[in-house]
Amino acid sequence: MSDSVTGLSSKKPIPHAGGKLRIKPGPNNSYQLGFEHTSSDHGMALYQLAVSFDGRPLAVVPVGGIGSVTPPYPQPSVLAFIISDAQQMWGRICPQCRSYFRTNHISGMTVCPYCTFAEDSIYFVTDPQRRYLKKYVEVVERVIKEQREIEIDLNEATDSPEWTYEERQLQHRFTCTTCDVTTDILGEYGSCPKCGSRNSGAVFHRKLNRIASDLITATQDQRPDVLNRAVSVFEAMANDLKKILVSIPSHARRRGQISSLNFQNVAPAVEQLEQWYAFDLRNGLDAGDLPFVDLMFKRRHLFTHNAGRVDEKYLRETGDKTYELNEAVVLTAEEMDRLLPLIRKLGANLITDVDGLE
Ligand SMILES: [Zn+2]
Ligand SMILES: [Zn+2]
Repeated sequence: MSDSVTGLSSKKPIPHAGGKLRIKPGPNNSYQLGFEHTSSDHGMALYQLAVSFDGRPLAVVPVGGIGSVTPPYPQPSVLAFIISDAQQMWGRICPQCRSYFRTNHISGMTVCPYCTFAEDSIYFVTDPQRRYLKKYVEVVERVIKEQREIEIDLNEATDSPEWTYEERQLQHRFTCTTCDVTTDILGEYGSCPKCGSRNSGAVFHRKLNRIASDLITATQDQRPDVLNRAVSVFEAMANDLKKILVSIPSHARRRGQISSLNFQNVAPAVEQLEQWYAFDLRNGLDAGDLPFVDLMFKRRHLFTHNAGRVDEKYLRETGDKTYELNEAVVLTAEEMDRLLPLIRKLGANLITDVDGLE
């Protein structure tokens, strides 16, 4: 899974690809579809849907080339082209969580990048696309009734917004390395709408790489910030995967336990996940590594909540003999150099183990 290097980008509308749509009457109440791409400054793509006469998507039907035979599709219905936006992508809305995303995956099983709900792609058609389909069916009926060709210039159909549904570019774009599908989502963590794999690994490693390179030149004053960022990245990634774990059918009590897992208390969280799911999160770690990571996570807590000074809770929970009450913690380069690769290993193990769940 690859993803963009820039992190979050700002949302913006992406216009319809435009073009000219032609519907011609044919023999025996039939009709023919034609489409002409008219823009030279952007591309376009289309796919075909069988739509009921009240405008509901019934099935994706492959667009046949010259001489090819259209496979059987649900009847009675009308065939409609769904034109992409100017970036050859289509908006989608999850029927389960009603969240919007944009992708070039439009047929077959579709997985919601946010909630991982999976259904056939026809259930992900957005409301503006549905309004277009209704309008489209009306025009096909008119063509058949009046036996005359109707051409709709989608670049000029501004008086009927149904024809040119606009899409939205979202905050983060990622391309799945398994299936090459590109998707735009809000936030950074999400699943590929085609194969369902989570982009956790790509986002997590990219962020850690950045932190690791900042650590090289970090002064003693800057190390607490590097520590804070590293822990935050781990926590955000783990909390995202936690949502996947919660969505897997299990006893309500177990779901409650998973929901309340706190990755700031990293050692107990790791131990519980290993126990509940037979994960091997400490794979590649030495016996003292997890207690060390846990200690560093607790020091991070001191920096974010106690100006980096040792409090009683820290001493009680860690048994750290190197500091006394009220003493300011000093993060050494050695400690930080040891910590980052351990966070990376723990995170990578978690990603692999969640990915391997069936
Ligand atoms: Zn969803
Ligand atoms: Zn994929």
